[in-house]
Amino acid sequence: MIQRIATPSGTKAVLEKYDLYAKKNYGQNFLVECGIVEKIARHAVISDHCAVIEIGPGIGALTQYLCEYAQKVIAFEIDQRLEPVLNDNLSDYDNFTLVMEDFLTVDLKKYVNPLYEAGLDVVVAANLPYYITTPILFRLFEYGDDIKAITVMMQKEVADRFSAETNAKDYNALSVITQYRCEVQRVCKVPANVFQPKPKVDSAVLQFRFRTDTPLIDEAAFFELVKECFRQRRKTILNNYGEYLGNKEKAGEILTKAEILPTARAQSLELSDFVRLYEVQYER
Ligand code: SAM
Repeated sequence: MIQRIATPSGTKAVLEKYDLYAKKNYGQNFLVECGIVEKIARHAVISDHCAVIEIGPGIGALTQYLCEYAQKVIAFEIDQRLEPVLNDNLSDYDNFTLVMEDFLTVDLKKYVNPLYEAGLDVVVAANLPYYITTPILFRLFEYGDDIKAITVMMQKEVADRFSAETNAKDYNALSVITQYRCEVQRVCKVPANVFQPKPKVDSAVLQFRFRTDTPLIDEAAFFELVKECFRQRRKTILNNYGEYLGNKEKAGEILTKAEILPTARAQSLELSDFVRLYEVQYER
């Protein structure tokens, strides 16, 4: 029978065997609840011909399940202490490749292209190191739609921002920019007590899938416009947008043409409103 790592006793045994402790500066909180790990893996592996890119395998709790459900798993781990641990713990799986590198600087194309060319659905799965959740996700978003789905755990309050809908208290520029690129699905909430060591906050799992109907626009300019519209949440869109343009009168004209009420606030606008505003401003 396979020895599961994602249990309190399984994790304790591995840490003791290798004389390891969780490193805070690498965001190490190991999952010790098989049910949650299995759920993440099942969601992440979206077809019967999937290759998974895992970020931060730790001691291999999630990796075990991914290796069982997917055709291929390539895991990127920064903590050099974990190399022998992962190689031992996953020695039963011949579809596992370990890359001991910082995911933020790795040449991702080198790994993704051959998988994509082999006709595999490339997906990402991770219990993310929380200190670099946003840089990792933006790296993946910029990488684009060769990646079919990104299923990741993060701090719940960050997940709330990524997935917030119009008028919600967490709806902000990050929500709009993310939802411009991806459909965001909330998979589940995860309580703090299923980790070792236990973090101070709860977590949540989200799945991102790239949209196929994204309008063709200059993304840098669009993202700047969205951020500026949210600059001061309490101010009206006319005030924020007017300050951004440096011309309140012109801002009023563009807003009216884009059919946006000047007295509205950014948090009440839909993604399609921001796209229209961009299109009117740039006369597209
Ligand atoms: N996947 C394991 C689990 O669920 O139990 C561990 C998750 S732990 C929250 C985050 C993992 O990411 C740690 O193993 C940590 O060493 C690794 N990590 C942190 N920064 C990294 C980076 N820049 N590149 C790759 N891995 C990183």
